[in-house]
Amino acid sequence: MENSPISIEENSRQQEKLISFLVVDDDLRARESLVTLLQRRWPDITQAEDGEQAIALIQQRQFNLVILDLNMPKKSGDQVLTFIRQKKIQTTVIVISGETSINKVTEAVRLGAYDIFKKPYSFDELEHSIRNALDKLLVEEEKAQIQKRLEHSEQLHRYMVNNSPDLIYILNLKGEFSFVNNSVKKLLGFKRSDLIGRHYSEFIADEDRMKAEYLFNERRRESRSNRTIELGLKCNTANSSKPFETSTCPIELNSMGIYSVDSKGSKKVSTYQGTYGVARDISSRKKAEKLITYQAYHDLLTKLPNRAMLLDRLDLAVKQASRTGQTLIVMFLDLDRFKLINDSFGHVVGDQLLVEVAARLKAEIRTGDTLARLGGDEFMLLLPQPTTRIQAESVAQKLISSLQQPFYLRGKEVYINVSIGISVFPDDSNDINTLIKNADMAMYEVKSTGKNGYTFYNDKLEHAAAEKISIESGLRKALKNDELEIFYQPQIDIRSRRIVGVEALLRWNHPQFGLVEPNYFIEHAEESRIIEQLSEWVLKRVATDLFGNTEFVDSEIKVSINLSASDIRHKEFPESLVALTREHGIRPNRLEIEITENMFMSDIQACTHKLQVLSNKGISIAIDDFGTGYSSLNYLRELPVHTIKIDYSFVSEIEHSKKGAALVAAIVGMAQGLGIDIIAEGVENTRQSEYLEELGCNVMQGYLFSRPVAVNEFLGRVATQQENQSSFSKV
Ligand code: C2E
Ligand code: CA
Ligand code: CA
Repeated sequence: MENSPISIEENSRQQEKLISFLVVDDDLRARESLVTLLQRRWPDITQAEDGEQAIALIQQRQFNLVILDLNMPKKSGDQVLTFIRQKKIQTTVIVISGETSINKVTEAVRLGAYDIFKKPYSFDELEHSIRNALDKLLVEEEKAQIQKRLEHSEQLHRYMVNNSPDLIYILNLKGEFSFVNNSVKKLLGFKRSDLIGRHYSEFIADEDRMKAEYLFNERRRESRSNRTIELGLKCNTANSSKPFETSTCPIELNSMGIYSVDSKGSKKVSTYQGTYGVARDISSRKKAEKLITYQAYHDLLTKLPNRAMLLDRLDLAVKQASRTGQTLIVMFLDLDRFKLINDSFGHVVGDQLLVEVAARLKAEIRTGDTLARLGGDEFMLLLPQPTTRIQAESVAQKLISSLQQPFYLRGKEVYINVSIGISVFPDDSNDINTLIKNADMAMYEVKSTGKNGYTFYNDKLEHAAAEKISIESGLRKALKNDELEIFYQPQIDIRSRRIVGVEALLRWNHPQFGLVEPNYFIEHAEESRIIEQLSEWVLKRVATDLFGNTEFVDSEIKVSINLSASDIRHKEFPESLVALTREHGIRPNRLEIEITENMFMSDIQACTHKLQVLSNKGISIAIDDFGTGYSSLNYLRELPVHTIKIDYSFVSEIEHSKKGAALVAAIVGMAQGLGIDIIAEGVENTRQSEYLEELGCNVMQGYLFSRPVAVNEFLGRVATQQENQSSFSKV
């Protein structure tokens, strides 16, 4: 509140003009002469001729000064004074009276008269008294105004203090709260009265007691005390069910000493009175900081540590292990067929699968181990405790079997496998990045030699890995440079011993590595979408290899080609396939496409429609690797399926277990029941073929009859078969 710029003198002169007088006297002449004298200075003068009129006027308006006669008709001066007193009217009364008995005077003073004059009086004296009275009035008024301003400013400060989002407190000499603002409720959940009179240390989080000791009740002042520290304060998280539970709230604290200053002689002595402090709630900042650090070190989807944290831990573990001479194990895990599931079901389900995979893997490891997700379907496990290779193997085995149980996604059973590569410190390397690279390399080795397993790194892998990196670009080159070819594996009808079908299997005739099998590159091709070009290439090559050959065309042999999920999902499928068959002169009724169950699990309706189009054109549909993927068999009723191929893994079990044999029998029985053709894959010996024949599964494919062979060899057999047939027909 600032003072007005007008000087005090000017101020009082102006105020004087505003002073209002009431002159009360029944003696008209005396009254009028007084009024005339007064009016020279104070223009606002009202007259009353008796007590009654005076009271009426006083009730109507405010007078600063009343000059009052005592002896009057109707109501006396005493009565007027009594009225003023009783009604607590703010005014100053100067009495002018003929009465001078001591009783009258004391009575008037008792009733509140400011001064008393005996008639006749000197106007100068009266004026002097009036001036004193007015001065007093002015002083009082000013005081009242100052008081008002103070109150206002105090209100403002109180408002600011109480509505501050920060906790503001004052501690007394003993360190007890003597003041806290309203924020304490919002911030800590306590009432102000919970803190007042209590020692501050009761509210400091236990672990921060030491830190708080000299800061919460800071004695220093000003710049020397100006530093900020972070502390935890106890909160009252009480609700009705847990009334005494507390947690802590992180705050940032600024505090300083409060001193009173006294003069002792010429010296000023200041005495410590307490501490004033401001505590700011920093929980949201802390939360953000925590999240940022968490994000930097965790995979947000699975909540597992990420690559950065793994590298940190691996670094530490390697340092420790080199000191103690112990071994360390690093495992690289990669899910098989994850891409397919992700593409078929969508990312949401893919994410869900990753979360569940992470949980299962985590359940298999010990507390000191670090399981991290590196991204995509890649995980890494660090076993920092001294572990032998044999122990590592058993961990890998446990991880593999933990994923073997089906996952339930959108109410469907899904199976997923994992390939694990293992590297060992210090045998394989001393360097953390090399350890990871080696484990990765070993993992790729598992992938390429058949999935779902583990292997240790060895230096022979080095050379193999280098070439794997370039698979994608290699395949592009292969297409351009004509490095691809097809091997044909006949399908035999066991009863006639004749070839009734043939499967086209892709081979990559690599300039450096020779003939490369598809398990090694198909998954990469699928991931990089080169697969669609490969499939088209296969179809074209099948057309030139086989449909240009008279013996083959004359035979009734069907050729089957393998398609991948992305082929089927392509928006131009199946029209593109139909167009290609026409273009290349492939007769639709001689073509079969092989698809796996996983390919249509996402959108069976769209798939049914597409396959129906093919079927209507005369192209057959075979379910490859039957029994290894999708578990529900309902689709067999919905889709136009012509052939089921019993997977190699079931056929190979025939002679090993009763269960395996029973499973094959069940599959054959079911296919027969549905009127679907059946082919057994991977038949390697006569025990298998005889058993299958007994069941009525007559068409077989496998090494027992023929390995996949080059086109000329295959066509040679076809020619022989055709000759025999023609010689039969001649007979
Ligand atoms: P698949 O479709 O299950 O093909 C059968 C695989 O079993 C072939 O391996 C074949 O050589 C092998 N095989 C045949 N008889 C026997 C046997 O008696 N014992 C054993 N142990 N194996 C036998 P291949 O040619 O290495 O192909 C592997 C996989 O690559 C195929 O499995 C198929 O899924 C995929 N593939 C091959 N060619 C193509 C292609 O042109 N396009 C696509 N998308 N995938 C292909
Ligand atoms: Ca196949
Ligand atoms: Ca197969």
